[in-house]
Amino acid sequence: MTDGPEHRKILLIDDDRMQYRLTQQHFKAFRSATYDLEWAATYEEGIAKLLEGGYAACLLDYQLGPRDGLALIRQAIAQGCRVPIIFLTAETGENVDIAAMNAGALDYLVKGEINSRSLERSLRYALKLGDTLEALRMLATRDQLTGLLNRREFERILSEEKDRSRRFGQPFAVILADLDHFKSVNDRHGHPAGDEVLRQVAQRLQAAVRSVDRLTRIGGEEFAIVMPQADSSVAADSASRLCEIIRASPVPAGGELQLPLTMSLGVAVFPSDTTQGEDVVKAADRALYAAKSGGRNRVVRFSEL
Ligand code: GH3
Ligand code: MG
Ligand code: MG
Repeated sequence: MTDGPEHRKILLIDDDRMQYRLTQQHFKAFRSATYDLEWAATYEEGIAKLLEGGYAACLLDYQLGPRDGLALIRQAIAQGCRVPIIFLTAETGENVDIAAMNAGALDYLVKGEINSRSLERSLRYALKLGDTLEALRMLATRDQLTGLLNRREFERILSEEKDRSRRFGQPFAVILADLDHFKSVNDRHGHPAGDEVLRQVAQRLQAAVRSVDRLTRIGGEEFAIVMPQADSSVAADSASRLCEIIRASPVPAGGELQLPLTMSLGVAVFPSDTTQGEDVVKAADRALYAAKSGGRNRVVRFSEL
């Protein structure tokens, strides 16, 4: 979040133009913060804008036509939206309050009771809580050294992909990639140089994978890539590209130091490589092991073992 608080965009999703006018008036009366207010008048426009991103918070109306605000929160969250949402409703019933909270809203305001002070306060708390949640999410899901997704995320993504693959009958691939003789980088040049190499390698890999692929760091010098809707040949092409990208030019290791490095990769596909009861990650690991024992700096597919 690089923008200062004065430039934060707030999205109002409400089918009532009067509510937009009123909210504009409240925003003008805010004492300490100024936000840019944007308006979406329908469910579809609202969800599209939310998922587009760029909003610091969202004010969401309960009554939005046939599909209500609760459904919108659930859909937005299910599609990965992390924008803090404040629920607005004409009703004072506790049921709506609890339902909004359970759906993922951070606060709940009754329209008739809103004034500029209470709205400003609610936004301030929601933004603060949203930032805190985002920081916690980063800590829980990212590897600190490289900033890549961590091993726990790999496991989560993997089980998500298995579900999706079973439901839609489409394969996905797992690539395991391990730097060759990495221990000698540490031994010869020290641990900080090893760390820098890992950061550089992570950047190279990230720049080279498809945007739908999920690159994770699952161990010291071991990376895993989950490739949705990829079969064995698509995944093997990708793996060869990654192998070449590491081999092609020496990796900066801090200061003037540049180290020629190679990487070995194992490829397995779900479900075709799991029909013998082999787990897809174990299969990729067996292929990686074969790449290592076959001389390193290469790609091996499980299906060719
Ligand atoms: P191989 O080609 O068989 O993969 O050999 P290797 O030396 O790469 O593999 P090995 O598993 O023997 O050694 C991995 C080394 O990675 C050992 C460990 O000290 C180092 N390592 C693990 N995590 C980190 C880290 O976060 N930073 C640094 N600098 N080194 C790390
Ligand atoms: Mg290694
Ligand atoms: Mg290793």
